[in-house]
Amino acid sequence: MKILVVNAGSSSVKYQLINMDDGSVMAKGLCERIGGTGGVGHITHTPLATGKEKYSSDKDFPTHAEAIAAVLEILTDKEYGVVKEISEIDAVGHRVLHGGMEFTESCIIDDAVIAAIERCIPLGPLHNPANLLGIKACQAVMPGVPQVAVFDTAFHMTMPPKAYRYAIEKKYYEEDHVRRYGFHGTSHRYIAQKAAEITGGVHRLINCHLGNGSSLCAIVDGKCVDTTMGLSPLAGVPMGTRSGDLDPCVVEYLCNTHGYTVSEMLTILNKKSGVLALSGKSSDFRDLEAGANAGDEDCALALEKFAYECRKYVGAYAAAMGGVDMITFTAGVGENSDTMRARICDGLQYMGVEIDEEANHQRGDVVDITGKNSKVKVMVIATNEELMIAKDTEALVLAAK
Ligand code: ADP
Repeated sequence: MKILVVNAGSSSVKYQLINMDDGSVMAKGLCERIGGTGGVGHITHTPLATGKEKYSSDKDFPTHAEAIAAVLEILTDKEYGVVKEISEIDAVGHRVLHGGMEFTESCIIDDAVIAAIERCIPLGPLHNPANLLGIKACQAVMPGVPQVAVFDTAFHMTMPPKAYRYAIEKKYYEEDHVRRYGFHGTSHRYIAQKAAEITGGVHRLINCHLGNGSSLCAIVDGKCVDTTMGLSPLAGVPMGTRSGDLDPCVVEYLCNTHGYTVSEMLTILNKKSGVLALSGKSSDFRDLEAGANAGDEDCALALEKFAYECRKYVGAYAAAMGGVDMITFTAGVGENSDTMRARICDGLQYMGVEIDEEANHQRGDVVDITGKNSKVKVMVIATNEELMIAKDTEALVLAAK
């Protein structure tokens, strides 16, 4: 089975065509600047299955429909294509940000599912409308091809009420559905499954998904019991440009002091905060490490604060689960920054966490960095959200046959 995985953003569409016979990526690419946002639209496409060079071209993408049409065109192109006909694509798997309380797992898309994703728009106002545009564009250009929705929130729906309820009046939960949802669920689920596969089963796992956006997840026997993000992806540890947790009174105080609207304040907290704000330099951890190494104190503080908040959540989740058997690091920072992994683990020796310095420098999709005397297994595992989406899609499509 060949599955097209689509991640539609407000002005972009990322895609991968995956061959489920061996899980290989046949082609991947990105359409940017859809809807004339900031210049001419652009497509980059890498036909991995053919070994050919990357294809790149300017294209006009007035809407998502033109972008999806361009993706199908290049996937079947004589020179850069990887399939002969569109009909070789068996199904499409879509990443959808917010499933609210409506979705506890992935599902085949029909009118009722589209209506439910629409009902979740107030919870995911930036992403859900874009995800829907991607779904509708695929339905239009690939009629009859099954489409599956895979939600970022679904994996976290196993949290107990003590983890997902906020300490505010019940009506806000019951009527407005205000609660912790959590995100990066597809990545946390992929790592939980992979960790179990590698070790033969893991009881209490803490997965640290550390990228541009970061979240930690406490997982017992493969099920999420707590996670750092909340109603939105703004909560938890500080991130590239997001503040992470702060006292809600900061919002009112700065709105009053500077005359910001709440929406302006949230843009600041989402786009101009986190390690970017602490360093005053960059949201990219490579720049921060270079800055800190050159003696920049703000860069050093940004890295220290990030590691400190991650370490605090590892401690909190060990307490929540009555211990921890394994810690995993994944995503851009988690997979690539040995220094950040070392910073986070330094100070966790009291709970039996030790990493092997030499192993920590090694690279690979799966690296065991557990220290000689460590009581807790520590591993770096590369995440693969697209493969997880494709696997869900394949399973649902086969079950429906
Ligand atoms: P996203 O959350 O957008 O999916 P990624 O998981 O791809 O992001 O992570 C991107 C981030 O990973 C970059 O912003 C960068 O800070 C970080 N990163 C990538 N490579 C390295 C590296 N070698 N050292 C430190 N940080 C890195």
